[in-house]
Amino acid sequence: MSPGWSSGAPAADTVIVIGAGPAALCLAAELTRLGVPVRLISPEDPRRPWPNTYGIWGPEVDDLGLSHLLAHRWQDTVSWFGPEATQHRVDYGLLDRQALQTHWLDASLGNGAHWQRGQVLGVRHGPEGSWVMTADGGELPARVVVDASGHASCCVERRADGPVAGQAAYGVVGTFDRPPLAEGRFVLMDFRTDHLNPAEIKAPPTFLYAMDLGQGRFFLEETSLALSPPVGFDTLRQRLHRRLAHAGVEITAVAHEEFCLFPMNPALPDLSQQLLAFGGAASMVHPASGYQMGSLLRRGPALAASVAAGLATGLVPRDLSAEAWQTLWPRERRRRHALYRFGLEKLMRFPEARLRQFFSTFFALPQEQWFGFLTDTLPLPALLGAMLQLFARAPGDVRRGLLLPEGRELRLLSQLINPPGP
Ligand SMILES: Cc1cc2nc3c(=O)[nH]c(=O)nc-3n(C[C@H](O)[C@H](O)[C@H](O)COP(=O)(O)OP(=O)(O)OC[C@H]3O[C@@H](n4cnc5c(N)ncnc54)[C@H](O)[C@@H]3O)c2cc1C
Repeated sequence: MSPGWSSGAPAADTVIVIGAGPAALCLAAELTRLGVPVRLISPEDPRRPWPNTYGIWGPEVDDLGLSHLLAHRWQDTVSWFGPEATQHRVDYGLLDRQALQTHWLDASLGNGAHWQRGQVLGVRHGPEGSWVMTADGGELPARVVVDASGHASCCVERRADGPVAGQAAYGVVGTFDRPPLAEGRFVLMDFRTDHLNPAEIKAPPTFLYAMDLGQGRFFLEETSLALSPPVGFDTLRQRLHRRLAHAGVEITAVAHEEFCLFPMNPALPDLSQQLLAFGGAASMVHPASGYQMGSLLRRGPALAASVAAGLATGLVPRDLSAEAWQTLWPRERRRRHALYRFGLEKLMRFPEARLRQFFSTFFALPQEQWFGFLTDTLPLPALLGAMLQLFARAPGDVRRGLLLPEGRELRLLSQLINPPGP
């Protein structure tokens, strides 16, 4: 669909975006809206349906004026951190993948952006621009290149920073011989362990993430928040089946299985590199929750505006990238990121009972605090305030667990004062 590209001098003001996932399409759409010539490159057609199901809190899409992009929305949102259910009182939604993809495709490919099939092997840079090297031996010139190739990025550079923890989940969309959860309900975290024996309770904790999809279909997913190495799919599948058997529920038909694994706490990219990045490639997954979609929608326009302004004012690519990286990862946000990563390090060490107590305290915080924490929408002082309040309210065992930072935790705390980056 796109005219062939030729090698040579970087094309005037063209931006190449690597990838065709949510991050690539989001940024391509925002850049195209600003009149920037965009070329996407990915191995698969960007119109191919995405495989993952993406959840997001209702108020996030409302604030963005995008609530029409939800396929489902639940008012009844609950968790279990003990025998009693905790009502969250904030509604939750599942994005309509096709509608979101079309929303971004219309604004990008439908508005003048081009796409080329290709597997990117690397990017080299010069003072006037960059060249994207592809598996078929091509070298595609651009003024600026944005790597949106996901968590296993082909090209972005980041400091080695110890083992990366993975969020792992095994899920089933299907029908059941009786409803596995109340009609019209969304379950964020069901930490009940009645179905496990004492040895299993000592193993890394997992929880159920579940929702009623209507018309007799449910999506149930056994999830490990984060661990390095990650909890295996066999364990997660077995635990889901045990949980269902304990509740006396049988799966009658499986419409879809989800195998979910992605890194939660990679280090930030090197912000001095000429290559830009967005999405998983730019470490944008929230290190304590695993969410990213709201962040893409909120941060895409500013990154695109920075790139467009740099091109319009004729900044040399290295300076343009330096400004754009600062827009995506300003100092304050990097400090918040260090704090979230610190929090995750702590949570990963918590035994099951302490983890439940922690979440019980966390979700008893004022709504704007826990919601702002999970969506990364609190400024740093408010975030610190929320974390201090959590500490003050937490039972003794959780407090003791939050004290005495060690190893990487200490490094992350120091980044709160002096975050990585220029
Ligand atoms: C199963 C699953 C469920 C998730 N659920 C949620 C959720 O509910 N809510 C939420 O906010 N987040 C969720 N996440 C986390 C995160 O939002 C997703 O991982 C999201 O897909 C990341 O988007 P991305 O565009 O950065 O990367 P990806 O979606 O991984 O897309 C990467 C793109 O780059 C292309 N690519 C890769 N390598 C190359 C290369 N060398 N050259 C060219 N192109 C390349 C790929 O083909 C693909 O098109 C989930 C993740 C997973 C895995």
